[in-house]
Amino acid sequence: MNQQFSVAAPVAEDSGVRPMPYRSWVEVSRAQIASNFCSIRDAVGPGVEVMPVVKADAYRHGAVEVSRTLEAQGARWFAVSNTDEGIALRESGIHARILVMADFLPFTRSAMLAHNLTPVIHSLPALAELNALAGSQNRSVKCHLKIDTGMGRLGVRAPASEIAEAILASPNVEVEGLMTHFASAANYQTGQTESQMALFEATADFLFAAGIRPALLHLSSSIPVAYSRRAAWRGMVRPGHAIYGYVSPVRGHAPARSIRVKPALSWRATVLSVKDLPAGALVGYGGMFRTPTAMRLAVLAAGYADGIPHRLSNRGSVIVKGKMAPIVGAVSMDLTSIDVTNCPATDVGDAVTLLGTDGDVTIDAQDIAKTAGTISYSVLCGIHARVKRVYI
Ligand SMILES: *Cc1c(COP(=O)(O)O)cnc(C)c1O
Repeated sequence: MNQQFSVAAPVAEDSGVRPMPYRSWVEVSRAQIASNFCSIRDAVGPGVEVMPVVKADAYRHGAVEVSRTLEAQGARWFAVSNTDEGIALRESGIHARILVMADFLPFTRSAMLAHNLTPVIHSLPALAELNALAGSQNRSVKCHLKIDTGMGRLGVRAPASEIAEAILASPNVEVEGLMTHFASAANYQTGQTESQMALFEATADFLFAAGIRPALLHLSSSIPVAYSRRAAWRGMVRPGHAIYGYVSPVRGHAPARSIRVKPALSWRATVLSVKDLPAGALVGYGGMFRTPTAMRLAVLAAGYADGIPHRLSNRGSVIVKGKMAPIVGAVSMDLTSIDVTNCPATDVGDAVTLLGTDGDVTIDAQDIAKTAGTISYSVLCGIHARVKRVYI
């Protein structure tokens, strides 16, 4: 129509989403990450150290950038999963303490110590092995000892007396931290968290009485922080999800939330093709979708290889120019088809929002998780490394 008169108008007048020269990309707001961290720090107060969890490349937000941003905000500790993740931070100039929560495999130990990473020790034999390794290097090594208080995954399950004995028999190791992890922090209908806390406190008391006084006791990931479970904060908290702007909903009655956080990541994809299909046409693998009427479809340059859950086939939605557009047919490896019949101006090169806000519409990782039958953590961590990352 009068397209030729609109050249001076902003590219995407009805949409704050700007195209980028990428098939698919995430936009990460450093300011939002910093703000989430500060909200958590304010909530727990000055007596409690906040150790952001930046494992899995900071839940795909980019561990190096996130850690730099938070170090500039005063973070003195970071938690990662494994030695490689810790080394990547050291090599990019992170000076803060780094706790390695799920490693101490025999083939990573010496690199861990060489890069000044702090291991979490989760068995008594491993404690003895760390003691021997430290002794062989004529040095003392700090570690955090993880107690299995009921999670039934990593952690020492031995009686407190055996733990005390093992620590006292390891003079080259300084148990600087004592930690545990909750299995059901989001469930206020069970007493599992309370019983885990009780066992942790009893173990800590026993060790204290035996003269073993770890400086840092820590139990809490995001949920016990967000819902003000103060008795579980002790000297340090380990939020991950909340740093990225998410707090999972809880079951049962929880206290009011004590933090204000917002998602820091948006995920977009570029429209690769737009075309009209007649009524009755099949779309994609398996002919999973048949057009009920004539439809305009757009094909996005992103698929399950980028992290769009295959389970969103025929059920998820994306946002196009501020409007929801349903995913039609099977999500394929590199492509996803959407229905843009209600958004006929959609064009090749436009940016659509897979996760994030466009205009008045928002889809977050929890929405996607619900539709895909998974959890928001998995949606975020599923964003593939080939998806470009842009910091805003
Ligand atoms: C991943 C992890 C956390 C962070 O959990 P969130 O729910 O993301 O806050 C804390 N502690 C341990 C041991 C973890 O593995």
